Amino acid sequence: MNETAAPIVFKGFPASEGIARGRVHRVDWDVPEVPRVAVPAEGGERELERFRRARARARRELEGIKRETATRLGPIEARIFDPQILMLDDPEVVDGTKRYISENRLTAARAFDWRMLELKDRWSRTSHPMVLDRLNDLDDLKVRILSRLLDLPDPWEIGDGEHRVVAVAKDLTPSFVARLDPSRVVALATDRGTRTSHWTILARSLEIPAAAGLGNVTTRVGDGQAIVVDGWSGRVVIEPDARETDRFERRRAAIRGWSHETRAMAEEEAVTLDRRSVTLRVNLDLPGEAARARALGAQGVGLFRTEFLVVGRGTVPEEEEQYRAYREVAEAFPSHPVLIRTFDLGGDKFPVFLRTPAEDNPFLGRRGVRVCPDEPELFLTQLRAMLRAAAHGDLRIMAPLVNTGTEIAIMRELLGMAKDQLAGEGVPFERSVEVGAMIETPAAALAAPGLTTHADFLSIGTNDLVQYTLAVDRTNTRLAHLFDPFHPAVLRQIAMVARAGRAAGVEVSACGEMATRPLGVLLLLGLGVDVLSVAWRSLPGIKRMVRNSRLDDIRAAAEASLKAPTGAEAKRTFAASLQPTVERLFPPGT
Ligand code: PEP
Ligand code: MG
Repeated sequence: MNETAAPIVFKGFPASEGIARGRVHRVDWDVPEVPRVAVPAEGGERELERFRRARARARRELEGIKRETATRLGPIEARIFDPQILMLDDPEVVDGTKRYISENRLTAARAFDWRMLELKDRWSRTSHPMVLDRLNDLDDLKVRILSRLLDLPDPWEIGDGEHRVVAVAKDLTPSFVARLDPSRVVALATDRGTRTSHWTILARSLEIPAAAGLGNVTTRVGDGQAIVVDGWSGRVVIEPDARETDRFERRRAAIRGWSHETRAMAEEEAVTLDRRSVTLRVNLDLPGEAARARALGAQGVGLFRTEFLVVGRGTVPEEEEQYRAYREVAEAFPSHPVLIRTFDLGGDKFPVFLRTPAEDNPFLGRRGVRVCPDEPELFLTQLRAMLRAAAHGDLRIMAPLVNTGTEIAIMRELLGMAKDQLAGEGVPFERSVEVGAMIETPAAALAAPGLTTHADFLSIGTNDLVQYTLAVDRTNTRLAHLFDPFHPAVLRQIAMVARAGRAAGVEVSACGEMATRPLGVLLLLGLGVDVLSVAWRSLPGIKRMVRNSRLDDIRAAAEASLKAPTGAEAKRTFAASLQPTVERLFPPGT
């Protein structure tokens, strides 16, 4: 690209907060063509030995990376390397490769390459999202072993001499992100991926800025090009010119100053100018985030997603491992509630070990709480772990994608069984644990008054509520402009759920992305939801905004927006009175 070329701008998902500038390092998962070399009959043994040594070396490397990850992120997070370590001994991988070496006289590299292609083809045909997740591991392992056999450098290895690197890839894997050094790899940018992809969860935990779902950024960049990644807005600029560079510098300075100022909020109360208290909890994806969120002043956890225990795993997570994870979070908040969600499987997340057949419409299929009756053992183990951890704090159980009271009743039945088992075994646990429902579908929102008779609390998952209300896939960047939390249908449902909760004396909180965006927070408050669960790094800024707002003004603005005929009109009406507050308190575009 020459000096005068115009900068190229991409807009994707804000996947991990932060802003950085660096040089592109392309992460290509395609390994070069494996040369065809005939192996003489007597060479077979040597190739078998080379394959054995390449596997042994890969195992040493992976065990090493796993140990490092355990130190940096925690032992549970380090288990994302287990599937790859297991694959090293998987007979499908090993025996198939050995057969090609012995029977077809192939080199170890070619035999392994063929075998992996075969497996990939077979697994891809299942088209199951979780198997696709495993394909990442397959690719990762293939590249690792072939690089050894062909004496090539690892394509994802970032050389010691490289600094301020931005990794650009079609998609990334959790294992790639887990071993990044944030002091050298300053940001990530990918064609695919969403905020809930497992690698973006790790990027947030490591505080590496990332923008995902950029479409085709990989087709427009080359190694070494200058690139800016804004993980607050999802904006990426390739070869920024003077204007873009200036814009970046000003925005970075503004965000730095803002982060610094807002961090001072940790000890302050979350109370509006007209002295109304708001409860600000956090959303967590990994147990290791709990202590950091508490240090930022969180009043508990409004959503602890537990899928990290199953995504990318080849085996069912053990009760003990789960217990330790839940206990870590509960203990981080000795005087606040911690809402732990049961596994939200289905949609784009299904663990391989459940061997679930693919569905034509996974987001309308076996998802969330619906999986519970089919997998009682899996959920029973989870509930046992939760009950045990509840003895160490104010832990509450939350079920995802609830539509009816019956689903809560099934969850309670399982919970009863878990209690009986634990009591029979003499294992300590907490008997009285609240069970709540996430409101994520129009069915649940419209039936909220009835749900309050089954659930001890309700929590609005705005990401799914907007998706299912508007029939707009939340992961489709091309539909992002239609994903509108201000749509009248969404606003009315939120107001209705808040009213139903108040009437029944049941707490209503909100925990989707909407509760993290400044205007979204104000809108939720205005619609009557005063318990919010926000992305933990956004908490201080949101608290400062709450402290600088008057609830009466917010309510009046929300009332007016409720009368608007369209989402655009509702947003205009709402922003007319409140956008100035947001602009005064947040860096532009945050
Ligand atoms: C939601 O749907 O708003 C939510 C918080 O759950 P998740 O994003 O994990 O689906
Ligand atoms: Mg959801």
